[in-house]
Amino acid sequence: MSKSQTAAQATEARRESHLFYLSSLRRPLIDRAEGIYMWTQDGRRFIDGSSGPMVANIGHSNRNVLDAMKRQMDRATFAYRLHFENEPAEELARELAGKLPEGMDRIFFVSGGSEATESCIKLARQWAVATGQASRWKVITRFPSYHGGTLGSLSITGDDALAETFEPMMRVMPTVPAPTAWRDRDNLSMEQRGVRYADMLEDKILAEGPESVVAFIMEPIGGAATAALVAPDSYYARIREICDRYGILLIHDEVMSGAGRTGKFLGGDHWNCKPDIVALSKGLGSGYAPLGALAAPMRLVQPLLASGGFQHGHTYAGNPLACAAGLAVLGEMDRLDLIANAAAMGDVLMDGLKALAKRFPFIADVRGKGLLTGAEMVADPETLRPIDQGKKATQRLLDLAYERGLIIYGRRVKGGVDGDNFMVAPPMIVTSEQVGEIVSIIGDSLEVLASELD
Ligand code: PLP
Repeated sequence: MSKSQTAAQATEARRESHLFYLSSLRRPLIDRAEGIYMWTQDGRRFIDGSSGPMVANIGHSNRNVLDAMKRQMDRATFAYRLHFENEPAEELARELAGKLPEGMDRIFFVSGGSEATESCIKLARQWAVATGQASRWKVITRFPSYHGGTLGSLSITGDDALAETFEPMMRVMPTVPAPTAWRDRDNLSMEQRGVRYADMLEDKILAEGPESVVAFIMEPIGGAATAALVAPDSYYARIREICDRYGILLIHDEVMSGAGRTGKFLGGDHWNCKPDIVALSKGLGSGYAPLGALAAPMRLVQPLLASGGFQHGHTYAGNPLACAAGLAVLGEMDRLDLIANAAAMGDVLMDGLKALAKRFPFIADVRGKGLLTGAEMVADPETLRPIDQGKKATQRLLDLAYERGLIIYGRRVKGGVDGDNFMVAPPMIVTSEQVGEIVSIIGDSLEVLASELD
């Protein structure tokens, strides 16, 4: 009996599972992962073409990160922040502050993306109260968007399917349309459209009452809900101007676009549009440990400190093991010059995806920055008529790629942009040959999908 047959039988034998997730779909058991590859116990090899959900930024099983974690494990894996300070957290905060826009040097650690965005809106609200602006509590967000699954972060997530069951339990926040300027059929230039989308924020602020709005949250480069959507350049500066005009804080959710993946440390660094608060996670821990962070300048934090401190926190915040992992991840990013590689490989990937869009005209748009790329599929590229939902085109494409040993990412957002999206975002250590292989497998998968869409 071959080794893979034995492993397959072992997989069969664990049919009964006590876990439950979004779907009851069973997946093969993971055995090991290294670099951009993952192997299952039944002997299959996968290319991690989306770094999981855009997490494994520096690739799997990096020796230096594992060694740094082991060293920390031998010293202390947990020290509660109200009892002890710890060096990894202090050092990671210092390192991070050095990579963030000037002045964003106060760091609050959490364990994930939802905790990060939720912490951002709580910081904004507490800042408003501490500075005598208690009427300000609304956080305007974009639709569609994804900022997390906890009730607070869900209240700023623009996705009807995720929110509707829980709406009675939360304050649903006002939304403005995500800047899907490429879809607009008018005589305006892209830059004019960028301004128009930004101005919708001003209209919303005025409609809600500026004195009631505390913040606007956006992903500088879209993630799960909009597949790497990039706004026209004009959008970013205009958003900053509008927030300043009404004394509203600008929160950048960099949970997916941050930590180097787009070819700059932050997605927002591609534009001159400095945020007031930044949320980070995913690539910060790069899959080695659950880690997230909020960064803000002292001018926002000081009023809180003067009024008793930030009324918020989680038990695992600033965990020494997670922070040691994060610190080593940043170290590897520098040592291997991975942000530059993400920019260079992003160009190769983008060329490959654009070539696919020429071959398969139902791909109506290809976009992104660096190694955060996305594509949108429609039934008719002229009218942008969506693909019949019954075809489940996104899921079908993901499955076809999975069958061919490639993981890519995609989901459909109810009430959002009607197109079917997919995202390609391999680890930042990817080589041009590997990008070629990824594009080729997507091409083969699209070929089958195309025949099914006819
Ligand atoms: N914000 C953004 C932009 C995300 O992409 C995600 C997750 O996909 C989150 C927040 C929530 O992060 P988590 O799933 O770690 O709670």
